[in-house]
Amino acid sequence: MQWLEIAVTAPMEAAEAIAEVLSRYAPHGVAFDYGPVPAEEPDWERPALPRDTLTVLAYLPMTAGWEDARQRIEEGLWHLCQILPFPPPRFRVLEEEEWAEAWKAHYDVLRVGPFVIRPTWRRAELRPGDLLIELDPGMAFGTGTHPTTRLCLQALAEWLRPGERILDLGTGSGILAIAAARCGAGWVWALDIDPVAVQVARENMQRNGVADRVEATQGSLAEALARGERFDGILANILAPVIVQFCEQGLGALLRPGGWAIVSGFLSGEQEAAVRRALEGAGLAVCGRWSEEDWVALGARRGA
Ligand code: SAH
Repeated sequence: MQWLEIAVTAPMEAAEAIAEVLSRYAPHGVAFDYGPVPAEEPDWERPALPRDTLTVLAYLPMTAGWEDARQRIEEGLWHLCQILPFPPPRFRVLEEEEWAEAWKAHYDVLRVGPFVIRPTWRRAELRPGDLLIELDPGMAFGTGTHPTTRLCLQALAEWLRPGERILDLGTGSGILAIAAARCGAGWVWALDIDPVAVQVARENMQRNGVADRVEATQGSLAEALARGERFDGILANILAPVIVQFCEQGLGALLRPGGWAIVSGFLSGEQEAAVRRALEGAGLAVCGRWSEEDWVALGARRGA
């Protein structure tokens, strides 16, 4: 069988909506690649794009009716493009073997601090002290390939203490929640507004044998506030405006005195400044910073 590869490079803000359009027709879900198209494709036009871009990739089986699916994808993307402009999609036909390689090549075993993130189809050699996370990314964000995920993993490995009760806002694939459980968290509540992410996160939690300590629920800050519980730690890797909004809507009150928050999903400069102000406005003291290229994660604590 042949596969049609669809690649769309777009600002991070548009990536989720694009993924949503592509995933309707892509049986294996979509993959996110950080930055513009892979370098090994010189024939692809590579527009100069800012740092905070993602390439969304999907593979459409070229079986009966695929032309219709392609047309609907193009229409869907065209509509989105009117709201959040991005360059047109690129198409490429792949043979079955090429497809399998292309799809899986996006994910390799990744080491981040003590964590070893293993896509389910890869083998990983473990050393003593390694904390294994097995992932099938499906269509949810969070494979460890994005710098902000790596920053959060690094930060939580440093800050989390065994037994702590953690809230993971915007869990995506569940990667941070699973990592928290691996670090000894007593309980993790993973929330995401996207029902598909919740589903993928649940499967990943079971795959990692942490489903007894990690719970995935569809929802956001409002659901967390409604529960009336205070957490020892909060993780939120989303986007600056969402984090700012969380701070304004009571994120600080979700932490016990002395509790911590690790937030990421934004760039140094203006976005970081806005997040810092919001954290301080929520009664938290910013006392940790991790960065990779222009991406930043901040750590903050509530006064004891
Ligand atoms: N935690 C993962 C995924 C981050 S991607 C990681 O670190 O890699 C951000 C996730 O936040 C997406 O899955 C998206 O669906 C979710 N999200 C976006 N806005 C949200 C909101 N307001 N409340 C809760 N989740 C949200």
